[in-house]
Amino acid sequence: MGRRLPLFLDVRDRRVVVVGAGAVGARRSARLRAAGAYVVVVATEIREAVDAHEVHERPFAPADLDGAWLALACTDVADVNAAVAAAAHERRIWCVRADDADASDAWLPAAVNVDGIDVAVTAGGDPRRATTIRDRIARALRDGSLRARRTRPSEGRVVLVGGGPGDPGLLTLRGYRELLAADVVVVDRLAPTALLDELDDDVEVVDVGKDPRGEAASQDAINALVVERARAGKVVVRLKGGDPFVLGRGTEEVAACLAAGVPVDVVPGVTSATAAATLAGVPLTERGTAQEFTVVSGHVPPGDPRSTVDWQRLGAGDATLVLMMAVANLGPIAAALLAAGRPAATPAAIVENASLVSQRVVYSTLAALAQDAERERIVPPAVVIVGAVATPRTGAAGARS
Ligand code: SAH
Repeated sequence: MGRRLPLFLDVRDRRVVVVGAGAVGARRSARLRAAGAYVVVVATEIREAVDAHEVHERPFAPADLDGAWLALACTDVADVNAAVAAAAHERRIWCVRADDADASDAWLPAAVNVDGIDVAVTAGGDPRRATTIRDRIARALRDGSLRARRTRPSEGRVVLVGGGPGDPGLLTLRGYRELLAADVVVVDRLAPTALLDELDDDVEVVDVGKDPRGEAASQDAINALVVERARAGKVVVRLKGGDPFVLGRGTEEVAACLAAGVPVDVVPGVTSATAAATLAGVPLTERGTAQEFTVVSGHVPPGDPRSTVDWQRLGAGDATLVLMMAVANLGPIAAALLAAGRPAATPAAIVENASLVSQRVVYSTLAALAQDAERERIVPPAVVIVGAVATPRTGAAGARS
């Protein structure tokens, strides 16, 4: 304490001289390059691959620091490092000495950036301790145990967050972090709603959960709501089920934001198309059995003029089929696939409420699919997998909340 001033430097395009090209010099050169500096490496011997704009394989000379903004003395010879520091001071620039923190007048902290938060740690010359502290802070920021919502208003924005199939554990770390930073959360029925209880009391939660056959008009209402809150300076998280861009109308919400001049980001999610299968222990591809899978929306039945799905082609092939939003149309869908040539005995698996405690898997065949779903009283949400892979397996993997 006392003699150090923590400071962040913008080093973009600034000449920074690194003396020494062992492990430390190479690592620091890479860090400086990543930060945008113009990196010059001087070393009698280049022992590691160095990432620099200039590499000079020769002894250090004080004139190497002419025009530099910062010097790093990274050799393993104390006298050379001292000479670098002395030359730096003559030129009134700071010098980080890798060998001797006490003799240094600048220190490179252990650093990390998590979602715009810069963390930099020094620990009195104990770099291992500094990196441990840095890692723990980074972890806490990533998992949300250390957090603070923004205090600056007027930067309204929208983040579409893919919430995964429903189990909070299947939300991505980034999605969770965005959720914890939200002023307003606009949530769907199939999103991981269990997480909403954990939000701060002053977070506004708007449930726009629609029934499977909810009014199409409500999409406009959702768009309008999201835009309105963002324009009022709020950070709006639009928490959606699965992945926002898989049968989720995410692009419409993005377009509405862009049209309104509201900044918008999208965080991908674990789509139920794949998660439901994996949680049921059904692999969508398997060596020797299935090399491809096709995700299809079944919300419009085959033959309906609104349908754009080529059921003939899907029925004629042997790709694994993943049917979403299909519970109400299983009869016509199975009939179309059979008519196009899929064998009646093709295995099928219905995964209802994937990842939730209520998860249920029903095995069937293409011919018996609709009948079995009805007998078992399958209700949405459910994913139906059709293909040779969709058989019960002993010791199937899969975990749920
Ligand atoms: N964007 C979402 C899909 C939205 S469409 C995603 O990527 O997962 C809604 C359909 O998703 C449902 O009809 C159902 O087929 C499927 N679905 C969503 N969550 C599900 C779950 N927990 N279990 C089974 N199917 C689910």
